[in-house]
Amino acid sequence: MTLEVPDLRSLVQYLKGVGTQRAEILKRIGINRAADLLFYFPRDYQDMTERREIDQLREDRTLQTIIGTIEEWNTSSTRRGQLLTLAINCNDKGYVKGLWFKMPFIMRDFAKGRRVMLTGKPRYDHPFWIMMHPQITYLAETEDENEVEPYLPIYPLTEGLKQFHLRKILRNMLPVYAPLLDEVFPEQFLAEHKLLPICEAIPAIHFPPDKTTLLWAKRRFIYQELFVLQLGLAIRRLQHRTHLRASPLPVDSKIDARIRQRFPFTLTKAQESAIKEIVNDMSQPVPMNRLLQGDVGSGKTVVAVYAMLLAVANGYQAVFMAPTEVLARQHLRTLNRMLENSQVKIVPLFGGQKTSERMHILQDIATGSAQIVVGTQAIIQNEISFQKLGLVVIDEQHKFGVLQRAALKTGGKFDPHYLVMTATPIPRSVTMTLFGDLEVSIMNGMPPGRQKVTTYLAEPERRTAWWDFVARKVTEHGWQGYVVVPLVEESENFDARSLHEVYEQLSTGLLKGIRLGIIHGRMSAAEKEKVMFDFRTGEIQILIATTVIEVGVDIPNANLLTIESAERFGLSQLHQLRGRIGRGNNPGYCTVFCNAVTEESQKRLQAFVKLSDGFKLAEKDFEIRGAGDLFGTQQHGMPPFRVADLVRDKEILYEARKDATDMVLADPGLAKPEHAKLRRQMLGRYGAVLNLGDVG
Ligand code: ADP
Ligand code: MG
Repeated sequence: MTLEVPDLRSLVQYLKGVGTQRAEILKRIGINRAADLLFYFPRDYQDMTERREIDQLREDRTLQTIIGTIEEWNTSSTRRGQLLTLAINCNDKGYVKGLWFKMPFIMRDFAKGRRVMLTGKPRYDHPFWIMMHPQITYLAETEDENEVEPYLPIYPLTEGLKQFHLRKILRNMLPVYAPLLDEVFPEQFLAEHKLLPICEAIPAIHFPPDKTTLLWAKRRFIYQELFVLQLGLAIRRLQHRTHLRASPLPVDSKIDARIRQRFPFTLTKAQESAIKEIVNDMSQPVPMNRLLQGDVGSGKTVVAVYAMLLAVANGYQAVFMAPTEVLARQHLRTLNRMLENSQVKIVPLFGGQKTSERMHILQDIATGSAQIVVGTQAIIQNEISFQKLGLVVIDEQHKFGVLQRAALKTGGKFDPHYLVMTATPIPRSVTMTLFGDLEVSIMNGMPPGRQKVTTYLAEPERRTAWWDFVARKVTEHGWQGYVVVPLVEESENFDARSLHEVYEQLSTGLLKGIRLGIIHGRMSAAEKEKVMFDFRTGEIQILIATTVIEVGVDIPNANLLTIESAERFGLSQLHQLRGRIGRGNNPGYCTVFCNAVTEESQKRLQAFVKLSDGFKLAEKDFEIRGAGDLFGTQQHGMPPFRVADLVRDKEILYEARKDATDMVLADPGLAKPEHAKLRRQMLGRYGAVLNLGDVG
């Protein structure tokens, strides 16, 4: 039965060549309606342009393709196992044989007279041409060598469904249904942005006439996918600007001078420009929503301090949150030092504080007598009432997508300004999608005096030499250093145990006589604090640690870093660790040892040795691991991309983002009739995740 009026919503079972049985199979791969078929894209293409006639076959070790009809086949036992031989008749001009060892199942679909295509490296063995283990492709009767398309689509399949079934169905339906497709982009937009119209792109993606057209067809779908997300993000940014209200916290020259006088150094250019962007945001009546990205050691803390003091100067409170207590305590110390003898009251909020102490602090926050609160995220997110909160700074944030604002009782009718800092260099293409609603400041370069760090990827036999070097630097030059041992999940105390093992080995062996210390995540806060204190004062010379020291720790005299089982760390983590050294007056030395190295970890470690710029490393990491892994959209609650790939399609993304931003600027609610379809698509896909309830 065929429908009289073709409709994209008609069920596939009514399409030519489908029927009820095949419709059931198609349902399993999500194809219910005609439109689903059109959007069921090939995963690859069979290049038919390399097709030969039998007299064109060459023994030149290249892959060649030949078409013929199945004549006969048989199996025989050989020393190498069962041998399957297939002979195909090539237009009565001769026979080509395909040979397979131990693959009898190939025979399953053989039938005399059936048209097939063999792809392999032909060898002439008088009087036949032979291909060993060729790839076999079945052609529908209509897929005659003279009619067949230059690139045959290869679809993801399911049990009971063959390539030529799908090809045949699509060949039949495309001319009828593709013209019915609704174009979401306005006509002029298509022309301006060199996008293939949907009615052309769909047939081209299934049966590309040539490679260039295929690229244009793909580009259109990738662009569309990225563009629609960017529309959502642009609208979210705009809504944020129009719906949320913050108190403007402006600067003037007096405030500026008062703040700067607190800093023990002149700010770098990068710090100045980040501060300028932040100050500009904070002077607006809408909350700042800014991500400050700066490589490890680039000096983000003082930028945060500037912003906090600006809030305080305007009579508001600020909070400074860090992911670990070690880091939060370091910030507390920095602030206390910089603000010594000032009127500003800084209070700490950590786990494990005495109830009475905590009560006091909470009260100071509620009455406003404390102006700056420093602590760990976990503690601060809870139930704290501020008198007048103006700014939230979140340090070393690397694991979130679209900004989740902390649930803080701000004490006013306004939202606080947000500054989020990260040293995990996030590739630009990712900041633009997952972090797409944040404004981004980037700090390039380091403060003056930053030392060179030399990195070695060491063979195990270099151990003795390395530890000798470490011992000499420590005893003769008073240097300090870290030894980092990976944390092993799923075995309760393993991290502590492996640390103690390393401790034993070193203290009785190559580092005998050197004062060693241990720090790991399962120690109590007080214990950790004591160890860090001893390390800072030099009491401990070499600190054996898990990655608790990974983020933010700043001890300028520590110059030696040893990383054990380095293959277990990701690139950004390694880079973070290396950022702990080379912060003082001496050059840093980092040596990584590894155990079981895979190809991937090899690549990673080589990149680590070669590159010192965190942003370059991040791009590399991204290349090695692919977009799906580290920054998978799904992890962030976004629907996954169907065709786009943030590594491969960076350029298209930048373009789509700019174009989407322009469109939203010109038509904020996408209210123009020509934008209605885009708007609907965007809301359908991202309305809920991006919380865009009331567009327009
Ligand atoms: P990160 O960006 O990794 O958080 P920090 O803020 O911890 O970096 O700064 C790293 C070190 O650089 C600190 O010891 C800090 O005092 C120092 N520093 C920051 N800015 C400057 C500057 N402009 N001049 C000199 N030293 C600076
Ligand atoms: Mg920091």
